Amino acid sequence: MPDAPTLSPSTAPLAEAPFYLPQGSEVSLFEQAQRHGLPLLLKGPTGCGKTRFVAHMAARLGLPLYTVACHDDLTAADLTGRYLLKGGETVWVDGPLTRAVREGGICYLDEVVEARKDVTVVLHPLTDDRRILPLERTGELLEAPPGFMLVVSYNPGYQNILKSLKPSTRQRFLAFDFAYPAPDLEARVVVSESGVDTETAAMLVRLAGRIRGMAGADLEEAASTRLLVYCAILIKAGRPLREAVRAAIIEPLSDDPAVKAGLSEAIAALL
Ligand code: ADP
Repeated sequence: MPDAPTLSPSTAPLAEAPFYLPQGSEVSLFEQAQRHGLPLLLKGPTGCGKTRFVAHMAARLGLPLYTVACHDDLTAADLTGRYLLKGGETVWVDGPLTRAVREGGICYLDEVVEARKDVTVVLHPLTDDRRILPLERTGELLEAPPGFMLVVSYNPGYQNILKSLKPSTRQRFLAFDFAYPAPDLEARVVVSESGVDTETAAMLVRLAGRIRGMAGADLEEAASTRLLVYCAILIKAGRPLREAVRAAIIEPLSDDPAVKAGLSEAIAALL
């Protein structure tokens, strides 16, 4: 039996919320969902600001945040907790979901559709008006306090028939559809996150727009806001433009030489 890990919120309430530039009405939607005890589903491509948004809102509302990056081995017990060895004794150790419920905090399950099917079983009673978390192993029945909020995200672009949220699960959530931020907003994000000048940021956003227009046929996903920020950080650090674009945008997007050549060609005129 493994030794018990110590679990601390990935974000304790912060004095200052991390920078987040809203795309639309998501801030007030989140606040209302939280106030009324409703769970929230964030949809959208990778790197478009979902995780940053949740971190921002948790800090703004002064709530602890437990973030879990879901993967295909993640089970309900990883979220609720398990008995582990601690100093020779077997003790119950809360998982992140249980901890968030006990503390009245936020539990954020990133890419929730990746998790094993038994995860939905523990989420269902928490996402209707019962707001309860039954812990079979300890015999406890936890009632979520008013502060508790469940937030999940998923990327509809990745989904196939086997891995998508069932209607019976998704209809328990309010939902907000994220896209890449509008060009002027995205440029402001790039400036704020990297410190590059506005012209460089605007050029990178145009470049992303060109790539996003090409996405589909050969590219699984387009250039994210995150990649633009990385590219801008390299440029700000003095890296030559073309090298920064290659390392932060072209190489992360594809392994296929023909696709990479196509990308380079498509954006060459913008550099
Ligand atoms: P996701 O969770 O959607 O995959 P993230 O929230 O991790 O994406 O966003 C990736 C990065 O992009 C963030 O670390 C941040 O630098 C930047 N970012 C994207 N959108 C925004 C935004 N609206 N405001 C501030 N930063 C943003």
